[in-house]
Amino acid sequence: FVQERIRNFSIIAHVDHGKSTLADRILQMTKAVSDREMREQFLDSLELERERGITIKASAVRLFYEAKDGQTYTFNLIDTPGHVDFGYEVSRALAAVEGVLLVVDASQGVEAQTIANFYLALEHDHTIIPVVNKIDLPSARPEEVALEIEEVLGLPADEVVFASGKTGLGVEDILEAIVGRVPPPKGRPADPTKALIFDSIFDAYQGVIPYVRVFEGSIRPGDRIRVWSNGKEFQVDRVGVFRPGSLEPTGGLGPGEVGWLTANIREIGDTQVGDTITLAPNPTDAAYPGFKPAKPVVFAGIYPTDTQDYNRLRDALEKLKLNDAALNFEPETSEALGFGFRCGFLGLLHAEIVQERLEREFDLDLIATAPSVIYRVMRSDGTVEEVHNPSMMPDPGTIEVMEEPYVKLTVYTPEEYVGPIMQLLQEKRGRMAQMNYLGGAGDSKRVELRYEVPFGEILYDFHDRLKSLSRGYASMDYEQAGYQEGDLVKVTVLVNDEPVDALAFIAHRDKAYSIARGMVDKLAEVIPRQQFAVPVQAAIGGKIIARATVKALRKDVLAKCYGGDVSRKKKLLEKQKEGKKRLKSIGKVDVPQEAFLAVLSAG
Ligand code: GDP
Ligand code: MG
Repeated sequence: FVQERIRNFSIIAHVDHGKSTLADRILQMTKAVSDREMREQFLDSLELERERGITIKASAVRLFYEAKDGQTYTFNLIDTPGHVDFGYEVSRALAAVEGVLLVVDASQGVEAQTIANFYLALEHDHTIIPVVNKIDLPSARPEEVALEIEEVLGLPADEVVFASGKTGLGVEDILEAIVGRVPPPKGRPADPTKALIFDSIFDAYQGVIPYVRVFEGSIRPGDRIRVWSNGKEFQVDRVGVFRPGSLEPTGGLGPGEVGWLTANIREIGDTQVGDTITLAPNPTDAAYPGFKPAKPVVFAGIYPTDTQDYNRLRDALEKLKLNDAALNFEPETSEALGFGFRCGFLGLLHAEIVQERLEREFDLDLIATAPSVIYRVMRSDGTVEEVHNPSMMPDPGTIEVMEEPYVKLTVYTPEEYVGPIMQLLQEKRGRMAQMNYLGGAGDSKRVELRYEVPFGEILYDFHDRLKSLSRGYASMDYEQAGYQEGDLVKVTVLVNDEPVDALAFIAHRDKAYSIARGMVDKLAEVIPRQQFAVPVQAAIGGKIIARATVKALRKDVLAKCYGGDVSRKKKLLEKQKEGKKRLKSIGKVDVPQEAFLAVLSAG
């Protein structure tokens, strides 16, 4: 182990610009994975990642590269997700490396997350190697994109490496650039140990397995480690490094190394991501600095369809939190849904991913309510309250002022789509702060729009509409930007004349009517017909503002179904069984999962 020849780096990019594919080629060229074992997006090991074709978790792997200078280098590669919800994963990955490959698609050019990730890397003072990728594409414009990188990000065009993760062209140049440009890690083996926990997993036999980046000193089996924030101590059992598809034990981890450890850690909360590990006999005097915990900005209720699964759900949430530090939850009760949890997320995709992981990795059947932002209520008596759940909004009579969260939104687009995008933003109650022309010529002229817009307005369908308005070319990024007053109302939804707390939502007064209309229509569509007609209503206070009806099941339809055709009857029963899992009975009415998300498509 020679520290001089370690290179720790991450791959960052806008979604779909080819990070994972490039990582595949790097794995192959460093012979970490044989051609026979190779499969696409090798590092995306979660089932969900493979199905959706996106990276959710950052993942680490150690590689050996024989460089042109005749020396063998140890690479620790950390692949990262690109979606805006997972910026937190990116920032954790960046805390563990010295350099990044900033990958830009040669046909798409610089996009919003390219810029956001670039700034994250810059904040860490990392070496940034710009890579123009996918140069094999017929629509590639590598030279133009290199100039765009220079103009927009200020990275000299002559530092750009041109490559194709698909064909392998230029990948060797990337590996040489990593050797030549990324500095070896600093840190002395003899100094008091300082290691950052950048991720962790839970193993039923070995307990919590923290993933660490060692900055100073070392960690070896038998060492007594101490967790900085809580003073808890553990005896290290094994340490090791990441190899493709496995955790490989080693004799120890020295300064600059990236790896894992086991120490019979049973309490999930004892080793939090972002914390520092040191050695009890000779502790470091300072923790790893500046690691902000992720702050959830979107909340939703998650309930087991079967009330008996409540404890299993809590257990699953605790375990998942280990692997997903941004996840937040506390118990909640709903009249309609029973006992469950209010969960905090970094965005809508994050919420969706968490629900899916809970169901798959922990074999649970769940009902989730529509995600909502956090509102702030100033009461007439001077108290301030955060409302994470629309059904908990206080009586309007007691409210002095209501505030909603805003974001600073950046949209990055070819010039020709600026008009329609501005129109969309106006509809979303956005206020323009800035408009910048960012160079490029003719069709490739780019514009950056900066807006302040209520977070709740861009939560649901904004990204999809932006994409379809711009034929896929516009991209966006946002950051939270505090609270502003808004004329907000709570809309109650009644099914069969009973208010259903889990369906309530908060909206701007001007939009409440159209959302309520869309919502009751959607509900009437997704709630299965019963033996009787079911009214669905939306109300503000005592005033009904929208109404629809789930028509009664016609007798002859039933008769037909349950007639002589046995196979059809069987099919129907099977279908019912499938659907049943996801139904919650509210009074006499069965309400499916879809209904609880109806507000998402009602805007
Ligand atoms: P990520 O989201 O940045 O990890 O991107 P992926 O590696 O998952 O790639 C996104 C899509 O682009 C996939 O369909 C890949 O097959 C494709 N892709 C990635 N790299 C290349 C490349 O160099 N050339 C071409 N033609 N396609 C690529
Ligand atoms: Mg990926």
